[in-house]
Amino acid sequence: MNYVKKIYKLKDKKNAVILVHNYQSGEIQDIGDYLGDSLGLSQQAKSTKAEIIVFCGVKFMAETAKILSPEKKVLMPRKEAGCPMANMVTPEDVLALRKKHPNAKVVSYVNTNADVKAVSDVCCTSANAVEVVKNIDSDEIIFVPDKNLGSYVKRFTDKKIILWDGYCYVHNNISKEDVLFAKKKYPEALLLVHPECSPTVIDIADEVLSTSGMLKFAKKSRAKKFLIGTEEGILYRLKKENPEKVFYNVGTPRVCSDMKLTHLEDVYLALKEEKNEITLSKDIISASQKALEEMLKYV
Ligand code: SF4
Repeated sequence: MNYVKKIYKLKDKKNAVILVHNYQSGEIQDIGDYLGDSLGLSQQAKSTKAEIIVFCGVKFMAETAKILSPEKKVLMPRKEAGCPMANMVTPEDVLALRKKHPNAKVVSYVNTNADVKAVSDVCCTSANAVEVVKNIDSDEIIFVPDKNLGSYVKRFTDKKIILWDGYCYVHNNISKEDVLFAKKKYPEALLLVHPECSPTVIDIADEVLSTSGMLKFAKKSRAKKFLIGTEEGILYRLKKENPEKVFYNVGTPRVCSDMKLTHLEDVYLALKEEKNEITLSKDIISASQKALEEMLKYV
């Protein structure tokens, strides 16, 4: 029996659900019960009736699932899959910023470890960051860890935003030169970029969207060709859902190596052995849950 059949069989037997991020490889996207971005996956983790969640993504995402559904068993097929950007800020860093800016509220991007969420007022994703910052009850915001997403949010508000110097290497490496070269090569293509890209790239984009936003936009748009400025995994889904349209990477395909660690065998073994379970202390769960629940109000 191949891995896909074995996974489906075990999944039914154990009442498990497989949540998959849009940046995973095609073979993993194909077995997902739900495929989405951080916001969509958080909502699914909260609402699922399954007893086991197998999370195909990176650590902060699986932790988020555990925080929102603490009674469920959350398994990661590859426990070492992390997010370098999430590791750029610690709870101590946030507490030091709070001390320096006592009137500010802390908005942490969902791409943070659970202990950072626990010292934040509210989380946000790339899909709702602008709404969260606009609506939070403070004119002074500490925004961690992504300086690019924070700078993007600044464009929509007069609030004082204190940025942290974190970034995603995958998005930050997409340069203005890459974009200009790609635009010249495919002049008729619309340029969709993720808000984790640098401000110089965002300045010349046609649309700035989360991955779920890109999927919706590409489906609705009359345009036939698109240049995609984000991790290359999303192109698999864009092409699958829009076979009549054409999607190009901006320059060399940008790959998040942690997102690509998970393979079918890992999913099968995680389910079979119920291994790599996410465990968090009760204190961390209850403190970080508040920040995540607050975020889910801005959907
Ligand atoms: S793509 Fe960037 S933000 Fe997403 S998991 Fe990889 S390093 Fe982290």
